[in-house]
Amino acid sequence: YQIERIRNFAIIAHIDHGKSTLADRMLQLTDLVESRQFRDQYLDRMELERERGITIKAQAVRMPYTASDGQEYLLNLIDTPGHVDFSYEVSRALNGCEGAILLVDAAQGMQAQTIANLYLAIEAGLEVIPVLNKIDLPAARPEQIAVELGSLIGEDPDDVLAISAKTGDGVQEVLERIVERVDPPRTDPDEATRALIFDSHYDAYRGVLTYVRVVDGELRPRQEIRLMATGFHNEIDQLQVVSPEPTSIDRLGPGEVGLLTAAIKEVDQARVGDTVTDHKNPAEKPLPGYREPTPMVFSGLYPVDSEDFPDLRDALDRLRLNDASFTYEPETSAALGFGFRCGFLGLLHMEIISERLDREYDIPLVTTAPNVRYEVALEQQPKGGADRAHDLAADGVIEVSNPAEMPPPHQITEIREPVVDAMVLTPSDFVGAVMQLCEHRRGEMLKMDYLSEERVELRYRLPLAEIVFDFFDRLKSQTRGYASLDYEPAGRQVADLVRVDVLLNGESVDAFSSIVHRDKAYDYGKAMVEKLKELIPRQMFDVPVQAAIGSKIIARETIKARRKDVLAKCYGGDVTRKRKLLERQKEGKKKMKAVGAVDIPQEAFVAALSVD
Ligand code: GDP
Ligand code: MG
Repeated sequence: YQIERIRNFAIIAHIDHGKSTLADRMLQLTDLVESRQFRDQYLDRMELERERGITIKAQAVRMPYTASDGQEYLLNLIDTPGHVDFSYEVSRALNGCEGAILLVDAAQGMQAQTIANLYLAIEAGLEVIPVLNKIDLPAARPEQIAVELGSLIGEDPDDVLAISAKTGDGVQEVLERIVERVDPPRTDPDEATRALIFDSHYDAYRGVLTYVRVVDGELRPRQEIRLMATGFHNEIDQLQVVSPEPTSIDRLGPGEVGLLTAAIKEVDQARVGDTVTDHKNPAEKPLPGYREPTPMVFSGLYPVDSEDFPDLRDALDRLRLNDASFTYEPETSAALGFGFRCGFLGLLHMEIISERLDREYDIPLVTTAPNVRYEVALEQQPKGGADRAHDLAADGVIEVSNPAEMPPPHQITEIREPVVDAMVLTPSDFVGAVMQLCEHRRGEMLKMDYLSEERVELRYRLPLAEIVFDFFDRLKSQTRGYASLDYEPAGRQVADLVRVDVLLNGESVDAFSSIVHRDKAYDYGKAMVEKLKELIPRQMFDVPVQAAIGSKIIARETIKARRKDVLAKCYGGDVTRKRKLLERQKEGKKKMKAVGAVDIPQEAFVAALSVD
């Protein structure tokens, strides 16, 4: 293809606004997928993605399209993930494009990810084409939303396309507009080969599949390539385009998008954002934009049965092959035994990984409450006095990603916690409720803008720890589902934090420790012991549950000893009923973890999640 006839574009949208459905319609319109073979959401390949209706990994598909000017164009649709946890991947994928369709549900209107993604697209210098979707819905208000959208991006509301991705109405016009308005890719003919990796994932049969967009030069099968950030080099084994099934091709030229294999064993070696160049004739400078993905949320994963530990390690090794943004290292808990401290991009990422462990590897796990990573400045200590559990850096600053490892207060001069800049978009009726929630979560207001009479954009700086738990759910419930949230990391801030420990039967259970703001510590401790009293079943003896800061007890409850045996009730009764009861009891037990003499169910370890 001549470069003037290539158009690389992405669809950006808030979740559920119809991105996958529109992509499906485009595949049908360009005759790539016969209706017979068609299954909904063709591009969402992973089983989990399908079930949850979300797109986790960016993909690219090549669609030859004959436009109304009679010319054949090559449209490359680069799919982007829609969730906040993956905004790093969104911006990498957008760097492979010159244009973006900003898709907005005409009934719901603009949501936080609409705007967050719009900013990412503007930052990447893309031509943005606004499109309203779902105009077939009776609740659609296309005129009103076209005005809002138009004023946000400086477009005449009459020029905003209105479509139904479901019926296909108006989709052709979207393709025409891409051809008209999106620039063809640019290339420098004197530059050595450079291709941007915008996605890579692991395939059990073929190794790592690396999705690239060629910027300068060309790629061919058998070419020896080098990845500039990791230094990995090898021969290209297969070079393919996705159209929509992978098809071999003997050249990818400037502006073209495809995928390659080169006997790469781990996604870590072919990282998103890295530049592919020719090994013998390398480019001098990589393409801009490589950044290490940083885990933001941490949690301990422990096998319920300690014999599963080696299997858990294998499973994590394998997951990591496919997901370089996920980290883990072994740790030991006095309460839970051997396990791993895992790092995730966000809560959804954490849920996805735990679900895959459960589903694909079938290892019953105890997951501790998620927490963030703190930077802790320590009192300078005489040599040899430092806590051996930490690698004490020369400047006396350590990173703590497990609350149980927070040093005692007298050793600490300062704790710095990660903060984020959050954007909440809400109907104006709920502004008060949103402000109240943000302030309760230690938020500091940065900005408030009325986008229209009904829609308000609020910006807050918030501690990440205050939003990883249940902030999103609270926000939804207090705004009847209308508000939406997006956030990005904004460094760290000093905060007055303390470690609250929980003691069961007089013994501190390290897996229950958490880091809390001093002003909230008492309320937190009280709520936590009450919650645990509810969740931990009665034992043969009284179990005191206490919360403490250092050696100071701040709250206490008692789980009373159990009086009756389960079977006592149906003594002499029907045998099958008895067996059923026993079985149920055994099942309940399976999910418990014995800590000292006390059996604790899995829910208790994430009790902190619902304590407020
Ligand atoms: P995504 O999260 O942006 O990929 O959204 P999906 O494409 O998965 O769509 C979310 C939901 O909206 C699905 O139930 C779709 O069937 C539905 N949907 C998408 N486009 C339309 C449309 O034009 N009209 C109607 N009525 N429903 C639509
Ligand atoms: Mg989708």
